[in-house]
Formats: sequence, C-alpha cells, structure tokens
Amino acid sequence: MAPEGLHFRLLQLWCWPVSDTFPLSDLGAADPTTEPFWTACGDHRLVVQHCGACGSHQFYPRPFCLACESNALEWTEAKGTGTIYALTTVRLAVVEDLSPPYLLALVDLDEGPRLLTNIVSGPARIGDRVHVDWRSREGLPPVPVFRVT
Ligand SMILES: [Zn+2]
Repeated sequence: MAPEGLHFRLLQLWCWPVSDTFPLSDLGAADPTTEPFWTACGDHRLVVQHCGACGSHQFYPRPFCLACESNALEWTEAKGTGTIYALTTVRLAVVEDLSPPYLLALVDLDEGPRLLTNIVSGPARIGDRVHVDWRSREGLPPVPVFRVT
C-alpha cells in the first residue's frame, strides 16, 4: 500500500513518474524523457532532440525518433528562431499564470519541430519571424516564449 501523500500519475509506460507532491508540476523531474529539456530551460537554452540515425529533429521529447524509430537521440541546442505557423488570441482565463488576452501560437523552429508557445511582443501575424525569450515562473523552470523579430 502506498504511503499517504504519494501520488501516481498515469502516463505512457516509458514515463510513469512517481511524486510526493501534488498537484504534479510540469517540471519533468520524475520523467527521464523530458528532464533534459527542463534542465536546459533553467539555463535559458532551448533544446530539441536530434536523431543520430536519420538526422531529424523533434519536439516534444520522446524516447524514440518519430521519423525512423531509432532510439539514438541526443539533445541539441536550437537557434531559438522560427516562423509563426498558426496564431490565435486567447480571451478567456484558462491558465492561472496567464491573464487574457494573450497570443497562443504554433512556431516552426528553424530546425523543423513545431512548438506550442506564446508570442509576448505584441501584435503578430502568421508568417512573422520570431526569436525565443523566457517567461519566469515561481519555483519552476522558465518556459520558452517568442518575440517577433
Ligand atoms: Zn531518426
């Protein structure tokens, strides 16, 4: 029987974390697949996975390559530049830390992966070039956000 206060979160089998805190954060400390990403965020470095077998990049982190299914993945620092693929304005309070209105975007990194993020520099349009910035969070690693270049 699990001790009181020990919480399990059902995820994919390869990343079944156990935590003694609740609610679970997205720190990723209990998930070996995402932990290198969050560690790099702590240093304001945007990293993505690179496949040593086929050369493709991917994000979000996974235990194998989506292109060739190899597990020869390594972490590489992205340039932090990209292009807005899709964009919308969120006008309802969905996330406690974000006061609407704010811009929610899909950004295509120059390395290839598409990242769900926020545009924090004001008005933006699909196709605008952007560069990474960081939003601080209390007690958690910063998250990558983007500014129009
Ligand atoms: Zn591959």
